[in-house]
Amino acid sequence: MKKFSGSFAVSALVAAMSLSGVSQANVTDKDILQDQSTVEDVVSNGLGPRGQRYSPLDKINTNTVKDMRPVWSFSFGGEKQRGQESQPMVKDGVMYVTASYSRVFAVDTKTGDELWEYNARLPDGIMPCCDVINRGVALYDDLVIFGTLDAKLVALDAKTGKVKWKKTVADYKEGYSITAAPMIVNGKVITGVSGGEFGIVGKAEAYDAKTGKILWSRPTVEGHMGYIWKDGKKIENGISGGKPGQTWPGDLWKSGGAATWLGGTYDPDTNSVFIGTGNPAPWNSHMRPGDNLFSSSRLAIDPDTGKIKWHFQTTPHDGWDYDGVNELIAFDYKDGGKTVKAAATADRNGFMYVLNRTNGDFIRGFPFIDEINWAKGLDKNGRPIYNDEMRPGNPSASEDGKKGSSVHAVPAFLGGKNWMPMAYSQDTGLFYVPSNEWGMDIWNEPTAYKKGAAYLGAGFTIKPLSEDHIGVLRAMDPKTGKEVWRYQNFSPLWGGVLATAGNLVFIGTPEGYLKGFDAKTGEVKYQFNTGSGIVGSPITWEQDGEQFISVVSGWGGAVPLWGGEVAKRIKHLNQGGSIWTFKLPKS
Ligand code: CA
Ligand code: CA
Repeated sequence: MKKFSGSFAVSALVAAMSLSGVSQANVTDKDILQDQSTVEDVVSNGLGPRGQRYSPLDKINTNTVKDMRPVWSFSFGGEKQRGQESQPMVKDGVMYVTASYSRVFAVDTKTGDELWEYNARLPDGIMPCCDVINRGVALYDDLVIFGTLDAKLVALDAKTGKVKWKKTVADYKEGYSITAAPMIVNGKVITGVSGGEFGIVGKAEAYDAKTGKILWSRPTVEGHMGYIWKDGKKIENGISGGKPGQTWPGDLWKSGGAATWLGGTYDPDTNSVFIGTGNPAPWNSHMRPGDNLFSSSRLAIDPDTGKIKWHFQTTPHDGWDYDGVNELIAFDYKDGGKTVKAAATADRNGFMYVLNRTNGDFIRGFPFIDEINWAKGLDKNGRPIYNDEMRPGNPSASEDGKKGSSVHAVPAFLGGKNWMPMAYSQDTGLFYVPSNEWGMDIWNEPTAYKKGAAYLGAGFTIKPLSEDHIGVLRAMDPKTGKEVWRYQNFSPLWGGVLATAGNLVFIGTPEGYLKGFDAKTGEVKYQFNTGSGIVGSPITWEQDGEQFISVVSGWGGAVPLWGGEVAKRIKHLNQGGSIWTFKLPKS
């Protein structure tokens, strides 16, 4: 290769490189808003800000998918093979993907060659509840932005992986961390926080995506003050939900949990960020009589100001760790010729909800698991009708005051559905819901808040409900609540779903398979074993006229750590850490 010397030659080379379009990621707000229809890139978590995880690509379809094969695999390497829950992004021939322990990789989409790697330097005292996972980056302008296990936002140069800005979102010593992919809304990067098992106070925050300057902060526990920053000044912006103490006893709201740990989706129609909140703290519900707002809820937040426009609480006075964080996906459907602006979510508590996304009104709800027992159903407003016998007993009513009576509640706290995102097909009008059938023995114990320590007041053992399966991928009709088809899997499903116009639905399994199903019938049309369990979310995109599918493989996450008797049943599954990319052979 010819050697360059002198500043003129070097700057000419740099100019030539930037013109060639290699390693560019100048992502605009328009790119993000249009992401679903622009098949040559994936620049949002959820393949579009609404999070439908639906692609109009159809070259890989129910007829051709049998010929699909891997074209490259990339290893995250090192000794850090833990749960890999990331969704990759693709822009201009480069894939940006996160890995366990707060790492980011840029990879050439044609070859699988590494372009750069960023390793966050994590302190010893990080407190992630549920494995050292990360769910992906946000792309904006020439930046790759992600959240770390020590609760920072880091923006990297898309070309080099060098840090452009870094902000501390919260104090990891109090139990905060970040595992969700941040989202970009009109030039703002919006993030939530994890830490509901440590008595943190949940919040959503917006930062200027280009500079990292904070713009607003919205706590998600009733009684805490919100703030907005104008010209560098911090200004009070209303107390979340009004005065403290309305739905919380005493000072419990000061350590009330409601962690916004899964981030959110964005609905351009109503200019709302939909973000969910986790369990109220502590788990022992006898310590906090009341609805405990805004825990276990979906919130619609104004992205310009951080104001809460409406909330819908799925589990008021939660006593089972039924976090309400699961994705709320905007979709339209016709009812008697009228278009309904709806949004759907499948909750940890085993019920699926269809809401009016303009105001949060309940349209309908229905169970999506088989043996739900903590509630007898939902009332006309979508509020659960509790089965009082299934609330773990009050420890102070027990003989020694140390352990309340145990109950066998269904679903287990890991949920009828956990973080793994469902998909909505615009062709079939169905939601494809990754769910799990399991129960738990759960009991309450006395506890007190101590900064940086687990704050549960509960003990538990998760148990399978059958010998032959735990995971169930379900096709659910949001207009009727009917299950159209199901696929049962031996291990719990823990990865996201992708739906395509090729009449296909993809999901990975802990056994290592990437599986493709007929979207209408549920017939298995494809499977390939990636060598470790899949707990990531597949994507698809087009390059040079060919359709590609990629998924991250690497077993881990909450199940092996918290799964009780279920964890024993799946302990043979091997860890890993790699991306797999597939396509059809050239015709
Ligand atoms: Ca796109
Ligand atoms: Ca929780």
